[in-house]
Amino acid sequence: MTEKKQRKKKVAFPHMGLIYVAWSAALRKVGLEPYIPPYTSKKTLSLGTKHSPEAICLPYKLILGNFIEALEGGTDYVAMITSPGICRLGEYGKCIQNALHDLGYDARYVELQLYDGIAGMYRFLKQITGKNRPLMFINAIITAIRKVFLVDDLETKLAYLRAREIRTGDAEKAFNKALKIVEAEDSLFGLRKAKKLAFAEMDKVKIDKDREVLYVDITGEIFLVCDPFSNQNIEKELGKMGVQVRKSLTVSSFLKDAIIPKIFRKGETHLQRANRLAKPYLMRDIGGDALECVSDVAYANERGIDGIIHISPFTCMPEIMSQNIFPAMRENCEIPILPLIMDEQTGKAGYLTRLEAFVDLMKRRKRKKIIEEKQLSSSVM
Ligand code: SF4
Repeated sequence: MTEKKQRKKKVAFPHMGLIYVAWSAALRKVGLEPYIPPYTSKKTLSLGTKHSPEAICLPYKLILGNFIEALEGGTDYVAMITSPGICRLGEYGKCIQNALHDLGYDARYVELQLYDGIAGMYRFLKQITGKNRPLMFINAIITAIRKVFLVDDLETKLAYLRAREIRTGDAEKAFNKALKIVEAEDSLFGLRKAKKLAFAEMDKVKIDKDREVLYVDITGEIFLVCDPFSNQNIEKELGKMGVQVRKSLTVSSFLKDAIIPKIFRKGETHLQRANRLAKPYLMRDIGGDALECVSDVAYANERGIDGIIHISPFTCMPEIMSQNIFPAMRENCEIPILPLIMDEQTGKAGYLTRLEAFVDLMKRRKRKKIIEEKQLSSSVM
């Protein structure tokens, strides 16, 4: 065989938080070489911005930047996750393909239609490998799904530890070690053991269990909620301020709605809850994650947590709509809401000041509530 025939095809997906852990495992399992582009940086953003229409949303610019860096780094294929969508997401694929072509890249571009569920993933693997190996593909898909859930569980644990760690940074260090354990294990059987080892690593972090902690949900456009570069590491910043963050939108919750067959789902999914709770304020899906965001505010209010932050990309149409619905929700929802709009111009200092002010507000509100409750209970006695 010639050297060319032996070389594995390199495939790159764009970044969105830690999703690479899952897709790289699936590609390895079907005999391809995952090409993980350099993690999104200012360089990625400026490359994407330079070659994008000015008013297009931030995720598009970052994805284009990831693809340019991947192609410069020598990937053979770039793979795009698409959905029919009511918003611009439905057009992203064609636009990115044209942009890469205009820039002179000989890009082999493939699409993964996520809303087609397992069938869409199967079709994608068949197309990219040029083979039809049902057992191998199903194994790869299950491994990727398991890794998504495991990484999300580790992130939930990280959020708990960060808000309570005694030495700043310990939780993150343990998380990185845990992530390496998960990354290194691709067999379904081995993943169970890896899960135990990863959580054991995180359990080593020394915490102050009695610390006064605030609880905040983060909602918004899913890419921004999940991607630390585009949300300027909001979870880490809030963690340092003693806030335990819960992401309302995660890749695993998305998979439960879009990929996992109904018989394997437990409890209410995010979309089912969205349809139940958003109804008084928004009657139908208007694209993106607007329906989920509106319901997330109602859900956070219902649970009596301390606040909710809504993050959206500048010019994101569905999120502009949901932000305009929040004031109408005030009648029934007393939870504090902080809307944050992100684009390539967003500076860190002003952003941190807004977060600090929000945390301060929630703290004072919580303390006032505790005092009022004490006064009420003593007047009843
Ligand atoms: S949801 Fe918003 S940011 Fe995402 S593709 Fe649609 S318009 Fe763009």
